[in-house]
Amino acid sequence: MSESTLLVVGTVAFDAIETPFGKTDKIIGGAATYISLAASYFGKKINLISVVGGDFPKQQIFAMNERGINTDGLQIKENEKSFFWSGKYHLDMNTRDTLATELNVLANFDPIVPEAYQNTDFLMLGNLVPAVQRTVLQRLKKRPKLVVMDTMNFWMETAKADLDEMIKLVDVLTVNDAEARELSGEYSLVKAAKKIMAMGPRYLIIKKGEHGALLFHENNVFFAPALPLEEVFDPTGAGDSFAGGFIGYLAQSNDISFDSMKRAIIYGSALASFTVEKFGTERLMNLSHDEIENRIQEFVDLVQFDISLVD
Ligand code: AMP
Repeated sequence: MSESTLLVVGTVAFDAIETPFGKTDKIIGGAATYISLAASYFGKKINLISVVGGDFPKQQIFAMNERGINTDGLQIKENEKSFFWSGKYHLDMNTRDTLATELNVLANFDPIVPEAYQNTDFLMLGNLVPAVQRTVLQRLKKRPKLVVMDTMNFWMETAKADLDEMIKLVDVLTVNDAEARELSGEYSLVKAAKKIMAMGPRYLIIKKGEHGALLFHENNVFFAPALPLEEVFDPTGAGDSFAGGFIGYLAQSNDISFDSMKRAIIYGSALASFTVEKFGTERLMNLSHDEIENRIQEFVDLVQFDISLVD
């Protein structure tokens, strides 16, 4: 059986991050950067659609190519500036303040789907302008086997109508707990999940930062913890790395059953746990398969227990 292909769409960007442990100037970031790097540990048929300005370092693009990521669909607008996001974390690293979102090159982005990207098996619509996510889906001649979408509060507040249209079209939606509440108007995540699934997606993943992630499907719920780490240095990109690990695993296994999704959530959580150990994408650039497998084992050990029910 030939390896599945994965198409990743999302921002490729510069970020400036402030955490209680330090501060960075512009470093490489972007949803699609984290997603495609995380997914690259599962397969080498990854195609990227995004846009950057002439300010974006070419060596970063080569580094992604070396990890098996095809960047033919990454447009470079030489005379424009890359998307820029800046955020600040406080001691509770589960919440952050966005200090700046500069769309720059993203403002007029017309995503071109190279012919070689057609017939993709899996589509990961990472955080991006909802109308652009939609255009990519429309420009695919054949609907992928699974369409997963991530979004964030910024788009709920600036492009709600487009976002609602987009949510109808996807199989799996991933959001964090605050975004699930904002989208549904419900505090209970169980009620929120029901409302959001009624909007379209058959599966919903609610990410809860250091408290793990929930997978909802019909009346089933699965919970995966996050690994209790001694040090969380920079949570930026954790959600995207989670998404990349999740869809990367599904594409590699080519199995989209609920059971496979449960395993995929553990892989996603493992990839996210690496990302937060260093600033930006540093940790995701050169993980070994042993490191990933050992971390998966830590997840298994964390939640495995024997119990017998008394009658
Ligand atoms: P995460 O921490 O996984 O939620 O994602 C962080 C990444 O999302 C950063 O690297 C940013 O460049 C990117 N990002 C921040 N805001 C947006 C936005 N409104 N649209 C798309 N990407 C964004």
